[in-house]
Parts: sequence; C-alpha cells; structure tokens
Amino acid sequence: MAVQPHTSQNAHADSFPLLIIPIIGLAAAKVLKEAGLRVVVLEARDRVGGRTYTVQGPEFQYVDLGGAYVGPTQNAILKLAKELGVQTYLINEKEKLIHYVKGKTYPFQGLFPPVWNPIAYLDYNNLWRTIDEMGEKIPAEAPWTAAQAVQWDNMSMKELFDKLCWTRVARDFATLFINVNVTSEPHEVSALWFLWYIKQCGGTKRIFSTSNGGQERKFIGGSGQISERIAELLGSCVRLNEPVIKICQKDTAVFVETISGGKYEVINAVPPGLTMKVHYDPQLPSVRNQLIQRVPMGSIIKCMMYYKRPFWKEKDYCGTMMIEDEDSPISMTLDDTKPDGSYPCIMGKVKVSEIYAKVLDSEEALHPVHYEEKDWCGEQYSGGCYTAYFPPGTFCQFSRVLRQPFGRLFFAGTETATKWSGYMDGAVQAGERAAKEVGWDLHWQSEGCRFESHKIRPIKSTFWEKHLPSVPAFFTVLGVSTAFTAAVLGIVTLKKTSNVVLQ
Ligand SMILES: Cc1cc2nc3c(=O)[nH]c(=O)nc-3n(C[C@H](O)[C@H](O)[C@H](O)COP(=O)(O)OP(=O)(O)OC[C@H]3O[C@@H](n4cnc5c(N)ncnc54)[C@H](O)[C@@H]3O)c2cc1C
Repeated sequence: MAVQPHTSQNAHADSFPLLIIPIIGLAAAKVLKEAGLRVVVLEARDRVGGRTYTVQGPEFQYVDLGGAYVGPTQNAILKLAKELGVQTYLINEKEKLIHYVKGKTYPFQGLFPPVWNPIAYLDYNNLWRTIDEMGEKIPAEAPWTAAQAVQWDNMSMKELFDKLCWTRVARDFATLFINVNVTSEPHEVSALWFLWYIKQCGGTKRIFSTSNGGQERKFIGGSGQISERIAELLGSCVRLNEPVIKICQKDTAVFVETISGGKYEVINAVPPGLTMKVHYDPQLPSVRNQLIQRVPMGSIIKCMMYYKRPFWKEKDYCGTMMIEDEDSPISMTLDDTKPDGSYPCIMGKVKVSEIYAKVLDSEEALHPVHYEEKDWCGEQYSGGCYTAYFPPGTFCQFSRVLRQPFGRLFFAGTETATKWSGYMDGAVQAGERAAKEVGWDLHWQSEGCRFESHKIRPIKSTFWEKHLPSVPAFFTVLGVSTAFTAAVLGIVTLKKTSNVVLQ
C-alpha cells in the first residue's frame, strides 16, 4: 500500500492521498510522485508485484508464475506497460488446438471445440448465448441493480447450468469454462457474480480467446517488470517487508502500523479478503466487515513444463489443450515457448505430465527437461488466485460496498474494478479510480482513452449463433409441427373417408 510519510510539515491528513498495492499502488504512487507528492509504498512481501511474479533461471530464462496474459481492450495495463517500455508478444495459436474428451484427442481450430451432435450443438450454442445475454442485463458498475439480481445471486452457476444445459457435452464444457476463468467450481460461485465477471471482460468469446481475447499476448521479459520498473522509479519510497497490521483513523490523520514497528500517516487499501489480517480503529462498518469474510480466493497451482523440442508443433498442435478428463486436474494449457522459439514449454495449472502424454499421444511429453511451479493457495499475502470470488447469495449485498470509502480509507485492487476485474488491467483501472476518489484527478487516465496499439476486432455472432433454438425450443417446435402435421393428415384422411362413404 502506498502512503504519505508522517512529517511535521504535512501533518494535515487532507493532504495525504491514499493508495495501495503493487501494480495499482505502485502505478498510482508513481503518478502521485510525478505530481510532486511525497508517497511511500508499504509492501508486505520481500518483493514487489503481488500476484504477478516473474522469476529468472538458466533452464527457462524467465517465467511468469503469476498473472501473465493481456489482450485487446485491456487498455490500462497496455498503456502503462508501453510507458514503461515493456513490450508484448503474441501467444502461439498457428497450429491446431486440442479438445481432449473421453480419452480421445480432437484437433480443432477456432475458439470453442466443434460439436457434431446436432442436439448437443444447439445446447452448446444456447449456453454461450444465454450467458452473454444475461450479462448484458447486469450493469458493470452496479450489478446489484440488475432486475433479477437477487434471484441470480441466490443461484450457483451449477444450478444455472442445471437449468440451461440438456446435454452432458454442454454441461462438462461449462464446468471447464468456470475452472479456467475463475479457478473455482460451478457450485462455489454466485451466478450473478460469474455472469457479471464474464460481462465486464467483454463476454464469453473475449475472455476465453487467445487471438483477439484475454490470452492474446504476454510481456517480453515477464509481467513482473511492470512493478519492478515502477519500484525503480520510486526508489526508497518503496518499503519491502512492511506488512500493515493496523490502520488507525484519528480526527486529523490516519496512522498505519506495520510489523516492523513503523508508523505512517496514510491512506491505504488492501484486497478484500486479506484486509481481515489488518486491525482497524475505529472498526470497519458492519457491511464491509461482513464483506471481507465472504470473499474467498480461487485456487490454482501454475506449472510450466519445459522440453527439449516443441514436439507438439511437429504434430501440428499449437500447445492449447482443453482437457475434459475426470482424472486430470488440468483443464487448459497454452504454449509458453519464448517468442524467439527458445525454451519450448507448455503452461498448465497442475503438475501432471502423464496427462500431456495422453492428450498429445507422445512419449516425449513424459520427459520434460525442467519443471517450474507456483502454488498460490499457500501465499499468505495473496490467499489464492487469480481473484476473489463471490459465493451464492453474497454478491448482491456486498458488491455495493466494494469501493465505498471508509473515512480516509479508500479501496482499490483488481477486485474493485469494473472492467477486467480479476486481471492486471483491472488492478490498474482500480488504482486510477482510487486516486481520483481522494481528489487527485491526475492526467493519468486509461479509462476511456483510445489506447489501441493492438488491433481490437469486434466480437461478432453469426446468424446461426443468434437464431438457432435451444434444445427445449427445438423440441417444442418439433412437437408442435408433428402434432400439426398429424392433425392435417388426420383431417385429410377423414375427409377422404367421408367422401368414400358419401359416394
Ligand atoms: C497464477 C495466476 C495467473 C494469473 N493470470 C493472469 C493473466 O493471465 N492475466 C491477468 O491479467 N491476470 C492474471 N492473474 C491475476 C493478476 O495477477 C491479478 O489480478 C493482479 O496482479 C492483481 O493486482 P492487485 O494489485 O490488485 O493485487 P495484488 O497483486 O495481489 O497486490 C496486493 C499486494 O498487497 C500486498 N499486501 C497484502 N497484504 C498486505 C498488508 N497487510 N500490508 C502490506 N502489503 C500487503 C501483497 O504482498 C501484494 O503485493 C493471475 C494471477 C495468478 C496468481
């Protein structure tokens, strides 16, 4: 968290802006410092970056063990990266993707795996269309105001899938979709929250795509450079190993206490669940105090498997695997080879090379030359990842206080964003909003800016995607037409019979 240091000449709290954590805290601190303000960033860990974490090593050069991918419409993070001189590269998707289901590997191209059974196709199409249509009815900035907010919030995504999906194919892929996007299970998350989450990322296609979507690019040299470069600019303003343990608001100022005993006059904020570890005086308002007990983090272990050769490319596979297998703890992989083709690697979410051998049908997959992993569930200053989720029945009531300031305490972090929340982009957007809230309307503005260094192609739906019926609608139409045909045939037959009788 970023704070204004306590000195006699700036003892008045009104002159102390807030701020927060690495990406957003550092980015905001950078701007505030450029504006001539005295800022201190208090970081609990012995490094900056938080849920982004790039490490170096001879076996892999560098690797992102945390947040990594960026894509079109993520203007805030792309703009910041450009300003800091951090460039991006495209994720490989030239060759075929793989859908692995019931022990078989099905190569395909495009966004979602094709479905050949016509009934399953209708079901599948209706699923994505309905998720996007429901999302359109949820205001990104105020999801609790949606007409059916309470009803959708009281339902889990599993319950929604039970209502929507008629086929196993659609239901299984829907589960994978939740696992991949929010590292949770369908029964764990509120339908309102999940539908809102997909909507504020631009819809099912934008969030899930590599090309033209959330996984389109990575940063050359790793995403951790963004925080590291800002920390370099801030110099001694960044204080590592300083976990905040108490925030005390007095009439004239706010004091922050850290484990090392430092006291600062401040304003600050921390991501929702982690603020449970901080003591407040006066205590937090009831609803906020309840909120922070109700937002668990998703769970994931990110793992990278390095090989001698990108053998999957020789089989015309790009490295993207969507895996539906009860025995596999991995749902999705991407090629993580360096942009110059060195350090061939497949990124997945758990350590199991056997599943790669099965899916890629290659013994070579069983012989990686190096393996890297990071278990985020055990990180005490993250709690899990990628982001906090709202279980059923919590989003409607508590989302409305997510960004609500408490005295001189303001709240940011990716969880408070309204666009690409849960992502690095959301973190930057939230920092900018928080800076404005404390009255520093800075020239640092990504929201609304037309930063389009990478081509943004609009997401389009085909005529059939828009108009094909759902499975029940199809059967209703079929039933009605069958009944109609039978009735017509009946009448004709009856007429013919009566004519014969009359003659
Ligand atoms: C494995 C993984 C994969 C991901 N993939 C992607 C991706 O591909 N694309 C993407 O955009 N995003 C991804 N994310 C999410 C992304 O990394 C986060 O959304 C983003 O980094 C959040 O930034 P933040 O500043 O809001 O929070 P954080 O990065 O969590 O920063 C919070 C900071 O506060 C510090 N802190 C906590 N408590 C205290 C305290 N008491 N006192 C002082 N400091 C404290 C923490 O140490 C941390 O540095 C991923 C995350 C993970 C872990």
